[in-house]
Amino acid sequence: MLLYNTLKRAKEEFVPLTPGRVKIYACGPTVYNYFHIGNARAFLTFDVLRRYFEFRGFKVDYVQNITDIEDKIIAQSLEEEVPFREIAEKYTRAFLEDSAALGIKKPTHQPRATELLPQIIAAIEALVKKGFAYEVNGDVYFDTSALPEYGQLSGKKIEDQLPGARVLENVQKRNPADFTLWKAGKPGEPVWKSPWGEGRPGWHTECVVMSQKFLGETFDIHGGGSDLVFPHHENELAQALALTGKPLARYWMHNGFLNIDGDKMSKSLNNFFTARDILAQHSAEAIRFFFLSKHYRSPIDFTRELIEESERAVSNFYSALRAVDYKNIICSLDGSCQDSEQAFTEAMDDDLNTARALAVLFELARKCKNEQLPRSQREQAALMLVRLGEVLGFFTDLCQRLSEALPDLSRQLVELLLRYRREARANKDWALSDKIRDDLEHLGIELRDTPDGCEWKLKD
Ligand code: AMP
Ligand code: ZN
Repeated sequence: MLLYNTLKRAKEEFVPLTPGRVKIYACGPTVYNYFHIGNARAFLTFDVLRRYFEFRGFKVDYVQNITDIEDKIIAQSLEEEVPFREIAEKYTRAFLEDSAALGIKKPTHQPRATELLPQIIAAIEALVKKGFAYEVNGDVYFDTSALPEYGQLSGKKIEDQLPGARVLENVQKRNPADFTLWKAGKPGEPVWKSPWGEGRPGWHTECVVMSQKFLGETFDIHGGGSDLVFPHHENELAQALALTGKPLARYWMHNGFLNIDGDKMSKSLNNFFTARDILAQHSAEAIRFFFLSKHYRSPIDFTRELIEESERAVSNFYSALRAVDYKNIICSLDGSCQDSEQAFTEAMDDDLNTARALAVLFELARKCKNEQLPRSQREQAALMLVRLGEVLGFFTDLCQRLSEALPDLSRQLVELLLRYRREARANKDWALSDKIRDDLEHLGIELRDTPDGCEWKLKD
């Protein structure tokens, strides 16, 4: 399996640290607002990576953090005039709800920065002790000049950092590239006690501590959007090297941006749509399809037309499954669609080429609909379509979607038959009532008589 490693600027064969196991850390949200559909791209990319590893038989430890201490949260709490903790709590809840609505599998661990303050403080203390960090007036900075490897990941050199930036940003830093590990608190800000006085940790330290706590000193894959390469991931790597002398992760993966009118979608440019809003208008599967139709490293433009096209593509999968009456298929996969599975795996093994993997799903959907083919072949294609689709996160609610997808006219006909059945029962014509129930059952429609009337559903 080849993965593009930002650290090496090349695709590399993936070799896990422990055979059969993969440890992944992907940077999660800073919870100061509803996340936007650009953030969703990062979350979905690593959800698919995780699902694919599981499909390939790996045991996956997948950690995604929640950054619940950060300057932006403090700013938002001032704007909404509610305590900082309430902001973090409110948007953490929203993040969890929206992730679930997007069909993102729950990570194996989802730590919040506020849960790990003692460990974060201990890490900063260790950096100071080892000579990689210095304190000035209650702030603690990482001394980038103490680490020759600094700049490895992003290719940036310390000398390239503009000296002017230091003056503008912070006169206390020794080098412009030095970054904050601990920030002294100002009145009214949330603070924690530390050896340097009351304050709060920096974001870069939070992520190192959270990842290492659950995955060890060095793990397999560290991921996030490409805006995180510098400074966030560079600074995480620097701290890990300083603390342990070992790299934090072996492979660094970064997704490309979701753009809008050529610009990166971002809160700061105010050109964003929240995932929540888009989910109110489009299905989670269409959003997923929209992203997966492009390679995760390529930029992608957000347009309504593309999302609508994705909606149609997903409906095509469902109509293919209905064409073979998927819910009533009783056979299981017999190996005859092995070539599709192989083509899918080859695509995904090539640095997660999901666009090519989707082409395999299209081909299977075509087979399902091809009435020239023997029924058994069409059923096999449907079973493979679902098996491979699930790897990409589709069909998680298959039965419900297939029922919802029942065309309106069919629904009306079922309701009509139920009305005749009610009349038959009112006339004590039990034979007719039972006949309607049995005939519907034959068609895959299950009836349930309740005190409130008769309910029906498509059989699972
Ligand atoms: P944040 O909450 O800003 O830390 O971002 C959460 C994740 O979304 C990070 O991995 C970012 O790199 C990623 N991200 C932010 N904006 C975009 C975008 N427009 N397209 C793709 N990924 C993004
Ligand atoms: Zn991070």
